Amino acid sequence: MDGKKLEYKGEKALEEVEKLTMNAGEIQDQILEEILRRNWRTEYLYEYLRGSRNKEEFKRRVPVVSYDDIKPLIQRIANGEHYSLISGDPITELLTSSGTSGGESKLMPSIAEDIDRRTYLYNLLMPIMNKHVSGLDMGKAMYLYFVKAETSTPSGLPARPVLTSYYKSEHFRHRPFDPYNNLTSPDKTILCQEISQSMYCQLLCGLIFRQKVLRLGAVFASAFLRAINFLEQNWQRMCVDIETGNLDPLITDPGCLEAMSRVLRPDPQLSTEISRLCERECWGGILCELWPKAKYIEVIVTGSMSQYIPALNYYSGGRLPLVSTMYASSESYFGVNLEPLCEPASVAYTLLPNMAYFEFAPIAKGEGTVSEEPVSLVDVEVGRFYELIVTNFAGLYRYRIGDVVQVTGFHNQAPQFRFICRRDVILSIDTDKTTEEDLHRAVASAKKLLEPSRLFLVEYTSYADTSSIPGHYVLFWEIGPATSVRLSPHNSVMEACCANMEQSLGDVYRRCRSTDKSVGPLEIRLVCPGTFDALMDLSVSNGGSVNQYKTPRGIRSGLALELLNSRVTSNFLSPRDPMWMV
Ligand code: AMP
Repeated sequence: MDGKKLEYKGEKALEEVEKLTMNAGEIQDQILEEILRRNWRTEYLYEYLRGSRNKEEFKRRVPVVSYDDIKPLIQRIANGEHYSLISGDPITELLTSSGTSGGESKLMPSIAEDIDRRTYLYNLLMPIMNKHVSGLDMGKAMYLYFVKAETSTPSGLPARPVLTSYYKSEHFRHRPFDPYNNLTSPDKTILCQEISQSMYCQLLCGLIFRQKVLRLGAVFASAFLRAINFLEQNWQRMCVDIETGNLDPLITDPGCLEAMSRVLRPDPQLSTEISRLCERECWGGILCELWPKAKYIEVIVTGSMSQYIPALNYYSGGRLPLVSTMYASSESYFGVNLEPLCEPASVAYTLLPNMAYFEFAPIAKGEGTVSEEPVSLVDVEVGRFYELIVTNFAGLYRYRIGDVVQVTGFHNQAPQFRFICRRDVILSIDTDKTTEEDLHRAVASAKKLLEPSRLFLVEYTSYADTSSIPGHYVLFWEIGPATSVRLSPHNSVMEACCANMEQSLGDVYRRCRSTDKSVGPLEIRLVCPGTFDALMDLSVSNGGSVNQYKTPRGIRSGLALELLNSRVTSNFLSPRDPMWMV
């Protein structure tokens, strides 16, 4: 890719988007050609293509794969084998994706220039926003960004989430001052790994600069709500800091201490103003009062994050638009929202054809991938559902991302689509993504603990409860034999089942629970005998077939949830955090 093009900003960036999308087909061809030119010698591609760089042969001979197919190769790289196994360029890091395989984070190869591609997409966001909201260079953005702990592979490659990689990069840390991206959070508070200290200092800065803040945000809606919750619990401490000019003694991180010493000054009047606003019982609409000049909240509210829209609207009094700017993953960044002020339900992302080579596997609505061959970006049909398939520069070839999207239209030649869902994921609160298989494994492990009480699990289903912050997983369990359930299991047995399930859930779930604190303790709600029969009756009465009925392993909301909740006999919470090690 042309390095200069990646540096365009402002108006020029938008012109470049027009050019890119007008020639989407051609650019995709060039991207695939370039990927093959650089990577045809890799052991992986050579096995299928025998040295050919022909694009059609690539699509004919290279298989469409999922993570489990390539996991052994990635593990070999992690263990020190040469990058030429899969990539023509040195692999500089492995990105820990929030998807898991067998309970562990998936690792995605990444090469040095990938950071340019990500920066390119970030640099488009403000020019797009400026077209819709004016004056954003006249104040600050309270964006709450966080890094996570990183590990290193046996071969010494960093293994970390893509955003952590970005915030730690030169591109972020040494960015020139940009009045359109003037953050309230000093970089050192963002780069602090201890999440509660980072959150405390970032919110404190947001309060100090409250009259300058023009927009609020975080990457995902869940993180932003968690920050509001944190503020509800800690505003008194923050007000003391602002009043006295002394930082709370619980903040010990040297980076935070240094950064805050430049920002924090005694300001009793500001402290009183904030106390007055925060001390009231009901926090509905508080965001517009604490940050009276805020024009919008930038958080992703599409996909599983849409469950947080009511809570965000509550805290903003419905007065701040919710803006989902982009769609990205560890494997590749995908696209941007060219109409950022539209309603969350109408958000469509425009695919940027220079990010990677994209194919689309057609999906029958609500079912698996149909047998049709994947189609290229310019051949997708409006209204149809597809699973995204990515071929990138770093060693992923025809890789299924696992996201289902629906094409809503085109911007020039580039498709625009709604994010529908992550395939197979049934539970998600924050960045955790629990599949039916993950859940089944955890239940299978926990239910063994019932055996000494001569009880067994009859049926189960689950629900992501986000009515409180942080949200948590709820499991509805019906246990038998029906005659003995009056002898309900001892509390300690059920609590042990909760803890056991948590320990058996994926790596990302356990990190969210124990380190990020972005997911609350798992809850098991015991339901009375016959509940799952009643659930089936409900489905049949709504037109479902008895023959084909399968207990849904995830409940979204509505009547089924009401039915289950109305039959709860007792509930239990996990008594401790699961173990998670960096
Ligand atoms: P990760 O690989 O951990 O970075 O997670 C990437 C995944 O997050 C994507 O594949 C999507 O499932 C989800 N995601 C990212 N951006 C969005 C978005 N704008 N709307 C909905 N889901 C998203």
